[in-house]
Amino acid sequence: MTIPQHEIQHFCNNWQQQLAEAFTNIDELCDYLQLATDTLPISFAATESFALRVPLNFASCMEKGNPNDPLLRQVLPVKDELLTYPGFKSDPVGDLASVTETGILHKYQGRVLLINTGSCAINCRYCFRRNFPYADLQLGKQKEIAVIEAIQEDISINEVILSGGDPLLLNDSRLTRLIMQLNEIKHLKRIRIHSRLPIVLPARITDEFINTLKQSSKQVILIVHCNHANEINDRVVTACNALKNSNIILFNQSVLLKGVNDSAQTLCELSEKLFCLGVIPYYLHLLDKATGTGHFEVPINDALRLISQVQATLPGYLVPKLVTEQEGATSKQYIF
Ligand SMILES: *Cc1c(COP(=O)(O)O)cnc(C)c1O
Ligand code: SF4
Repeated sequence: MTIPQHEIQHFCNNWQQQLAEAFTNIDELCDYLQLATDTLPISFAATESFALRVPLNFASCMEKGNPNDPLLRQVLPVKDELLTYPGFKSDPVGDLASVTETGILHKYQGRVLLINTGSCAINCRYCFRRNFPYADLQLGKQKEIAVIEAIQEDISINEVILSGGDPLLLNDSRLTRLIMQLNEIKHLKRIRIHSRLPIVLPARITDEFINTLKQSSKQVILIVHCNHANEINDRVVTACNALKNSNIILFNQSVLLKGVNDSAQTLCELSEKLFCLGVIPYYLHLLDKATGTGHFEVPINDALRLISQVQATLPGYLVPKLVTEQEGATSKQYIF
């Protein structure tokens, strides 16, 4: 297969440029995938509240001409999103409003969550974020100072989690400044970053970013988000190797999604492939019941059956914990 020149060019660009060139137009994405739009259950209306957004790196992992590709299904706006399902609501986890106000969430013991940005490099159709048009949310300088002071004053906090949105959308100089400030806080043991970028936009793992993490006096944990083995291409391998070789501890979290990864074989392949990269499978989340995502739901009994099959097949360290987020709860609920 020959790779078109513009695609080769695209991957030579820096990550910001690659991000700017992400697919935001359904016709262009379908064209690239050699799919006729009228053969797909596309909903243009669904993009009004939650746009299409797919980096070329992620699209390049999809199978051309396959309308049921498990990666395509994660990002293609479809008619099912407009259906209502009982029990699905706009803020199923229940703490978004408060986080966006302050930029900080202190609900887990010993850990605080910082929300640095509201946007992502990819728009996953199953995400609860889809109902919050908070793309412009930023932890501004003033707020950042207040947040750092608050962490400094609370010695019960031993871990800071950078979350979002996607915290790796911050540029290197902002991230470096933030991490250097956190390094100064004596009672902090760990800095944890939750990001889908190492998977969907691996160019984000720049030398400067790696150096910042390497120089941190805290243990650094990076939790990536990968749902299917097909998401892992050579560029992702390179990015994860660079992280691993810098003593960053890597975990993965996935969401269990109908039509994407709801088979034991798919889940086993994902765990195996991640582990080859030095990424440990951590959580397998049941879907958050957000409006517009009902068609992704895997019933809990099916989820339990699947994870039992995975456990019967793989060594224990390759079996992610099946968890769910409960409104108001101060930790995740383990299902298995
Ligand atoms: C679950 C969760 C946490 C806490 O994670 P643990 O790994 O259970 O400590 C932090 N942030 C987000 C967004 C979560 O969903
Ligand atoms: S928060 Fe995660 S799941 Fe949601 S759109 Fe962003 S990358 Fe996707």
